[in-house]
Amino acid sequence: MTLRRVVVVGGSIAALTVVSTLRAEGDDGAVTVLSDEDRPAYSRVPLSKAVLCGTETVDDASLAPLGEAADLRLRTPARGVDLRARVVETDGGPVPFDGLVIASSARARRIGTPDQIERTLRTHHDCRQLATDLVSASSVVIVGGSFLVLQRHSVWLSCLRGDGCGCSGVGFVVGEDRWAVHEVGAAGQGSGLCGWVGGGVGA
Ligand SMILES: Cc1cc2nc3c(=O)[nH]c(=O)nc-3n(C[C@H](O)[C@H](O)[C@H](O)COP(=O)(O)OP(=O)(O)OC[C@H]3O[C@@H](n4cnc5c(N)ncnc54)[C@H](O)[C@@H]3O)c2cc1C
Repeated sequence: MTLRRVVVVGGSIAALTVVSTLRAEGDDGAVTVLSDEDRPAYSRVPLSKAVLCGTETVDDASLAPLGEAADLRLRTPARGVDLRARVVETDGGPVPFDGLVIASSARARRIGTPDQIERTLRTHHDCRQLATDLVSASSVVIVGGSFLVLQRHSVWLSCLRGDGCGCSGVGFVVGEDRWAVHEVGAAGQGSGLCGWVGGGVGA
């Protein structure tokens, strides 16, 4: 069955997969992709590795463009959904749909207090900011306990050493229980902490 108007919220890999699957299955209706980012889809995978280390750029991480397959609207966050009226609310007005896919994923959980410099890593802007901060950091605490996060720790260590970062020490906190997170919060205050990365997607 072809839906006349499909709206996809989110403009990353899941959104691309939705669009390509619809087209592969013969759907020729209108598809609108709403993304709150300022550039078409890119892989986040190298953001914590080669892009952060400066050996690749975010352009190298670009994913296949949507082209004619969909109407991609950048800088267009979905503000809400009216399921009764079948519209997605945006700053530019309501976008009507017959079928809606929410592919907006998750945001990193913040654990610091407002007076602390806390960084999470999810977008290419986050990556650039973190790379800048790391160069002048006197110490770094990385929070996270998954396999992927541990893998990134070793990559980051290589980056920091390779770039001559002024860090006198890099602390790792591994573990997902709240006690561990709170201990870092207390230890981090006033200690020159430059970056916290933790919680959910983007850790
Ligand atoms: C730094 C980093 C490194 C990673 N490394 C690896 C790895 O090595 N291996 C691995 O398997 N996975 C890795 N991942 C995970 C992988 O990138 C994700 O699983 C993948 O990006 C999920 O794709 P997605 O499309 O579901 O969500 P996302 O890529 O998070 O995309 C969601 C999109 O929706 C947008 N959005 C959110 N809310 C709205 C809204 N209201 N309106 C419009 N748009 C909205 C967001 O801005 C974003 O563009 C990494 C992730 C990060 C952040």
